Amino acid sequence: MSNSLSDQVQCLEVKAAAEEFIGRRWGNKMPKGTYDKRGRWFPALDETRDCCHRIRYPSASWPYSLLTHCCTLTHVASLYNVNAKSLRDAVKVLNSKLSDNGKEH
Ligand SMILES: [Zn+2]
Repeated sequence: MSNSLSDQVQCLEVKAAAEEFIGRRWGNKMPKGTYDKRGRWFPALDETRDCCHRIRYPSASWPYSLLTHCCTLTHVASLYNVNAKSLRDAVKVLNSKLSDNGKEH
């Protein structure tokens, strides 16, 4: 049982991250952030990760650069501190479950 607990926690984190990512992708969930007076979107402090600093600063003509970034798999992976590949796999599994739901019964 030595490794299983941490594996399980990691797995739960990945699952939570996958659900969050799918929610953001479909617009059911929004990243935490605020709009400034010019309509530019900025992530909240606890939403910001290292990956966000590489993104183009929002401008009047591109006000959602960070919002778009915060809905990417890379960002959600670093937000939940999970491996991007594990997250991608989990998203695939969840997506196939979601599309199966309509077909069953
Ligand atoms: Zn980011």
